Amino acid sequence: MKEACGVFGVYAPGGPVAQLTFDGIYALQHRGQESAGMAVSDGETITVVKDMGLVATVFDERTLSGLHGHLAIGHTRYSTHGSSNWNNAQPAYRPVGRAGFALGHNGNLTETETLIERAGMLPGMTASDSDVVAGLLARAFPEAAGDPADGELAGAIEAVIPGLAGAFSFVLMDASHLYGVRDPHGFRPLCLGRLGPPDRPEGWVLASESPALDVIGATFVRELAPGEMVTIGAEGVRSRQLFGDDQVADRLCIFEFVYFARPDTRLHSREVHGARRRMGELLARQAPVDADMVMGVPDSGVPAAEGYAREANIPYGQGLVKNRYIGRTFIDPDQQARVNAVRRKLNPLHENIDGKRLIVVDDSIVRGTTTRAIVGMLRDAGAVEVHLRISSPPFRWPCFYGIDTPTRDELLAAHRTLPEIERYLDVDSIAYITLESLKEAIGADNVGFCDACLTGHYPVKVPVTFTDHPLESQPGQPAAQGNGVEPTERRDEILQGALPGV
Ligand code: SF4
Repeated sequence: MKEACGVFGVYAPGGPVAQLTFDGIYALQHRGQESAGMAVSDGETITVVKDMGLVATVFDERTLSGLHGHLAIGHTRYSTHGSSNWNNAQPAYRPVGRAGFALGHNGNLTETETLIERAGMLPGMTASDSDVVAGLLARAFPEAAGDPADGELAGAIEAVIPGLAGAFSFVLMDASHLYGVRDPHGFRPLCLGRLGPPDRPEGWVLASESPALDVIGATFVRELAPGEMVTIGAEGVRSRQLFGDDQVADRLCIFEFVYFARPDTRLHSREVHGARRRMGELLARQAPVDADMVMGVPDSGVPAAEGYAREANIPYGQGLVKNRYIGRTFIDPDQQARVNAVRRKLNPLHENIDGKRLIVVDDSIVRGTTTRAIVGMLRDAGAVEVHLRISSPPFRWPCFYGIDTPTRDELLAAHRTLPEIERYLDVDSIAYITLESLKEAIGADNVGFCDACLTGHYPVKVPVTFTDHPLESQPGQPAAQGNGVEPTERRDEILQGALPGV
C-alpha cells in the first residue's frame, strides 16, 4: 500500500522560495518517491523543474540557486492513476494567460473518462488525472477571468473544480498568486501555515502535512476545510467555499492516522504519534495475550507496539532492523519479488527474538505477502510464538481515492476468516483493532472519516468502469451519492494578513 503524493506551496516575497520548497517537499518525501518537482514564479515567468527520483536527487544547490521568485509550489509523486514517467511528474504546467499556471495534485479523481471528454482530450493523449485537470483549467482560462486581485487563475479554478469528483488536494499558482483547494470530503490533508509573526506575516505556506511547515520555521495556522479554496497574494489570504453545504462532508482518510502521515503530523488538532500509541493501548485491552516481548514492525507499527506494551505491562523490544536507505528504485511485480524486497528492507535481531513468545504489532495487512515473510523471518530467528496485533481493522475493499491498493481478490482479508488468515500467515493468533476503538484512539469526536477500505462504504460513488466493479459486490448496500457537478454558491470569507506588494 503506497501513499499518493505530497504537495507544498509558499508565497514569500523576498524569501528563498525555492529553498523553502525543497525543504518542504523533502519533509513530505514519505508521500511519494517516484518523482519530485517545483515551479517558481518571479512575477513574470514561471519556471518548472521536475524529474524522476527522490527530492534530493532531483534538486541540488546549483539547480536551486537558479530558481528565483516570490512564489513556488512543489510536489512529490507516487502514481496511482497514470504511469510512472517524466510526463506525469508534477507540477503540471500550461502556458496560458500572462505566464501560464502550474498545479500539484494529491488524490485521485473518480470520473476521469468524463473529464477527458470535457477537456476535449482524446483517450491516450493524457495519462494522469492531474493532467486532465490542467487541461480543463487551461480551457476555462480565457473565459473565466475573475477579480484581478484574485489572480488570473482564480476564475478557472472556480469554474472547473466544483465539477470534479473524487479525492483532491491541489496547490496551484499563476505568476502572482498561490492557491490551495481541498475536495468537499477532505480525503487528503492540506494545511495553511504562516511565516513571520501574526501581526506582520512575511509569507504563507500550504502543505500536505504540518511537519513541512515546521522544517521551514512556519507556524501552523489551520487545516483547510473540505471544499475550501484559499487564494494567497499580496492582499493576504482569502478563503472561499467552492461547494454547497449538501456536498461538503468531512471524510479525511482514516489511514492518514494509521499509516500514511508522519508521526509528528497534526491532523484534526491531534498529533498522529499519540493516536497510534493509543491504538496499541486499546488493542492490548481488546486482545490481550501472554508473551515475553512486544515489538513493532518498523516504522509505523512501532508507536502502537509501545502503547500495547505499556498497557499490557509486557517488555517492549526491538525485533527487526530496517534498512533506511532503500528508496523506491524497483518495482515488485510478483510475490517472490515482494518477499525478497522484505528481506532487503528488514532483518531480525536474533538475540532479542530467540526463544521468545512475541507480540508483533503492525499497522495493517494488505495482501499478506509482507506479513507472512516477516513472520517467517521471526520464526527462523527462534521465536517460539508469534501473536499478531494489527492497529487497523481488516482491509477488505480497494481504495479509489488516491491510495495504491490491489484488487479486492488480492486483499488478504476480503474473503477469509480469521482462522484462515492465521493459517496463511503462520501465526499463533491474530487480532485486528475494531473500527470503534480505532476512532476512539484518534479521539477526534464529531469528525467523519473515510473508512471505505474497511467497511465498503464509499463516500463518493466510483463508476463501475473505473476498475473491478467494487460497488457491485455489496449486496444491499446502496452506493453513496457522488458529488454534484454543478458549480455552487461561492462564499467569500476572510482576508488575512496583507503582505507587501510584489
Ligand atoms: Fe483512505 Fe481507505 Fe478511504 Fe482510501 S478507502 S481514502 S485508504 S480510508
